[in-house]
Amino acid sequence: MKTLYREFISTTLLILGISILIGFILANVVYVIFTKEEITQQNMEVAEQIVHVLEEMHVSSHTVHPFLESVGQLGYQIYLANRSGEAYFFGEPFEHSRLPHTMDQVLSGTPYMGKDGIWDQFWMMGHFSNDIRNTVGLPLQIGNQTYALFVKPASKILFSDIHMMLAGFIVAVAIVSLLGVIKMTKRLIHPISELSEATKAITNEDFTYSLDIHRKDELGQLAENFLRMQQQLQHNDVARKSFISNVSHDFQSPLMNIQGYGDLLLLPNLDEKTRLQYAGIVSDEARRLSNLTKQLLLITSLDQSGYPVKKSPHRLDLQIKESIKKHQWSLQDRNLTISYKLDKAVLYSDRELLAIVWDNLITNAIKYNQPNGHIFISCTTAGNKIILTFEDTGVGLSEESAKQVFERFYRVDATRKKDGTGLGLSIVKEIVTLLNGTITLESELAKGTTFTVIFLMEGHDESWNKNGVYG
Ligand code: ADP
Repeated sequence: MKTLYREFISTTLLILGISILIGFILANVVYVIFTKEEITQQNMEVAEQIVHVLEEMHVSSHTVHPFLESVGQLGYQIYLANRSGEAYFFGEPFEHSRLPHTMDQVLSGTPYMGKDGIWDQFWMMGHFSNDIRNTVGLPLQIGNQTYALFVKPASKILFSDIHMMLAGFIVAVAIVSLLGVIKMTKRLIHPISELSEATKAITNEDFTYSLDIHRKDELGQLAENFLRMQQQLQHNDVARKSFISNVSHDFQSPLMNIQGYGDLLLLPNLDEKTRLQYAGIVSDEARRLSNLTKQLLLITSLDQSGYPVKKSPHRLDLQIKESIKKHQWSLQDRNLTISYKLDKAVLYSDRELLAIVWDNLITNAIKYNQPNGHIFISCTTAGNKIILTFEDTGVGLSEESAKQVFERFYRVDATRKKDGTGLGLSIVKEIVTLLNGTITLESELAKGTTFTVIFLMEGHDESWNKNGVYG
């Protein structure tokens, strides 16, 4: 596999290589255009100076040697030769000392200006090689002998300490940057590999992988977001599993009852009273199943982000009165009294969904009330708020339960399971939130519970309420 790490390193090396190459080509261009000519000229001046001094001094072939030796010691490489085969070297020895036909050219009076082949012209390093062909050559007349004098600065001068320091500096910079790039790449790649491992773990439904990333940059942020996502996924996974197990359980028990009592109904010689009792149980359980299915369908559709909310202006007070009427029979059945103070309130919202909210809250106030208990419902407007309360004198909720009643399938008391699904209040909460309202509750055990729903009126709701145009 081509790893990011390798790709990063190879790209950096490639960039380094290309920049060195371009730098080198540019240096050669500068050398060809400006430096080469200048250096040859300088060397030529030195050679002319030597020739001038020697010829002016009228030195003999014996005294010329010590002079050239001392020039050699000053940092020049010198080659002196004549037609009769005498040849002398002064200063640092040449690595390549083969000088072809140029000698005759110089002896016949034409100066030699160094290497001039195509390659030599454009190859800067050739200029620094310790080659006799890199010299400049001039004729030198000593007595009646004509010599050819070839001169070039010794590499010591060319590669002075400063040059060496500069070269060392460049090498050091190259090594340090390379090491830096390797280190930085590792630092950069490590969190990505960690995240990749964590993603793999999540794919395998393992939400416990802990990331070892402590950075403040974008990668740190990515890790933080990843962690949040991991926690959310873990939470969703737990919720999904418990939802499935709750649903299966809640379907299983009524189905088993229906099956069991259905079988009993098939028994011969059942007396009428028992038969009616069993049939009643089967009917109750079937109703419970139907109720559960309806609630599950509603929850599923509310869960989908694009639930089609159908808003229209309607009177909440009238809608709640209608809902109370529907429950009149069960109120009487349980010997409960109900009172209300419903101010006129118009809300531009989803009528059908709100009906489900009122129905659930009133059903619960009836279901969880004490015998001979009371229910009080109010609807008031304050500023741009519509405040609705559903108060009962029922069994109440402990602090712990009150925190959980809006969770799916939560039921306080197992003994009350019979006619509940634990989904009602979670649906209520979802609807109220979907319609931009809030729901809270206050409760005291054995005293009662009050649910408060608040909706904020938008501009047009307020004018309807004030002017009474609607309704
Ligand atoms: P259920 O179908 O069980 O009524 P809900 O979601 O409506 O489901 O309610 C969840 C639990 O909250 C109920 O099981 C009940 O114990 C408790 N509860 C709801 N409303 C009241 C209330 N008005 N007074 C006391 N307890 C309540």
